[in-house]
Amino acid sequence: MVETKEFKAESRRLLEMMINSIYSQKEVFLRELISNASDAIDKIYYKALTDETLSFEKNNYYIKLTADKENRTLTISDTGIGMTKEELETNLGTIAKSGSLAFKSENELKDGHDIIGQFGVGFYAAFMVADVVTVITKALDSDIAYKWESHGANGYTIETGEKETVGTDIILKIKENTEEDSYEEFLEEYRLKAIIKKYSDFIRYPIKMDITAT
Ligand code: ADP
Ligand code: MG
Repeated sequence: MVETKEFKAESRRLLEMMINSIYSQKEVFLRELISNASDAIDKIYYKALTDETLSFEKNNYYIKLTADKENRTLTISDTGIGMTKEELETNLGTIAKSGSLAFKSENELKDGHDIIGQFGVGFYAAFMVADVVTVITKALDSDIAYKWESHGANGYTIETGEKETVGTDIILKIKENTEEDSYEEFLEEYRLKAIIKKYSDFIRYPIKMDITAT
């Protein structure tokens, strides 16, 4: 069964800002998604340190970027803790969950620069470069995987999904280039590598890369 939901009002405003890409540094979407992936791995990693039922194998913890130029998708995968259906709704359905924005005043909200520059906007930054965002996730201790999908401000759908292993795949359908803006560069290995070096050099899990040429 597919459930269709609306974003909370404050989330929708931020989303609209992201979709219209008022911020020039679109590349920071990757910093945000990699930092979420790293946080999710931290959660399972520390659990594994104390939980004997979880295998403690360092090689199991990594982030992977897969670019498919033919289908124009960029996937950010992690072997982190994943999300339950409830967590998908509370964490991705409302931005209030994401600490940073709650503090910002109405005025600052209108000036996207300030917020993004200082705090980062988190998950919704994906909409700066993608017109469809799909999240496929399987939480630790869960037998069922879920698929969350959004085409933007109108809302999102949640249904059961297919995923064997615990963790999360964020699939971005990269926007087509326009006369003013270039997006397809985010499918290029050299570009992704440069962005990672610039913003995510300190991430302590390996970031693997798999680029399929056209
Ligand atoms: P923040 O990272 O500041 O909490 P975000 O908007 O970046 O805000 O993310 C919102 C929440 O969504 C995170 O706090 C986390 O609970 C959840 N989340 C996002 N990405 C992932 C992921 N890859 N794996 C697990 N949970 C995630
Ligand atoms: Mg974040």
